[in-house]
Amino acid sequence: MPATRPHHRRSAHACQRHAFPFRALSIVAGLWRIADWNLGVQERVRWIEQALELGIGSFDHADIYGDYRAEALFGEALKAAPALRGRMQLVSKCGIRLRSAQRPYRVNHYDTEATYVRAQVEQSLRNLCTERLDLVLIHRPDYLMDAAALAGTFAALSREGKVAHWGVSNHSASQFALLQQHHPLMTNQLELSPLQMAALDDGTLDQAQQLGLRPMIWSPLGGGGLFTCADEQAIRVRAEMARIAARHGISLATLAYAWILRHPSRPYPITGTGRIEGLREAVAALDVRLDAEDWYAIWTASKGHPVP
Ligand code: NAP
Repeated sequence: MPATRPHHRRSAHACQRHAFPFRALSIVAGLWRIADWNLGVQERVRWIEQALELGIGSFDHADIYGDYRAEALFGEALKAAPALRGRMQLVSKCGIRLRSAQRPYRVNHYDTEATYVRAQVEQSLRNLCTERLDLVLIHRPDYLMDAAALAGTFAALSREGKVAHWGVSNHSASQFALLQQHHPLMTNQLELSPLQMAALDDGTLDQAQQLGLRPMIWSPLGGGGLFTCADEQAIRVRAEMARIAARHGISLATLAYAWILRHPSRPYPITGTGRIEGLREAVAALDVRLDAEDWYAIWTASKGHPVP
């Protein structure tokens, strides 16, 4: 039987020192793919209600998702059922200028200047039909970022009550430290899955523990690649995980979340599923605690060699 892991469920856990704004479960719902789900407004309302009923209280967005349209789809649901807003925390991201029909940039690029960050935050507020975002992340490290100036933008938007907390995504440990020196950051949102383990070794997860800041984890199922990829690594990982999942009596997806949750940085995995059953599989991982042998068996299958 999988051992229980009640501390993941406890809201009090999120109120300790370095409190993260999330007050619900350690599982966050990601809305990157919402435009592909083809849900009507009432179906989107129902989807959000069901996520909340499962205990998922935080929703991860970005200005660019769904070709800049994803936030508005979610916001339309919040407008139809305004009471939902008070039951959730909204996360968004900005800083990427992505070419699109309405944005004919010569090249995709990053922009963390005050005008752009402010414009995108204010657009996210309008799209999400809310007056305040609980957490905003700089989506990717901008090599041209002026950290002191960006901290000033953060402070101004927070003073105006538009953003409660700030963080980053996909930043190296030194990029995180540079910005953190100028303004408190709540998290670094990183990629980690049984197929993508760079964060275990690149210092970002070490830094998160050093600072007591819980990381958010994107693409915990490798963007679905855990089930669909046909390369050698994915085949090895799937076979090993199938054996372990069967022994625990859980699904492959639940095992992947449990593998992430086992990391001592106490991560928040962000699901990308549009299916309520998919959300349920993520939440089920909160009751599974892997032992070191299971955890390293998945590491070994992913790397294709035993630990040195
Ligand atoms: P993911 O959970 O790794 O992948 C989700 C995909 O896997 C969906 O297409 C889902 O399809 C599929 N899937 C789930 N269970 C499956 C199963 N049993 N069999 C086959 N396919 C299955 O996460 P993600 O969507 O890549 O990323 C999650 C969130 O992280 C995003 O929504 C976004 O909020 C965030 N993100 C952030 C960054 C960043 O740079 N900060 C980058 C990427 C993503 P179904 O809908 O059918 O379940």
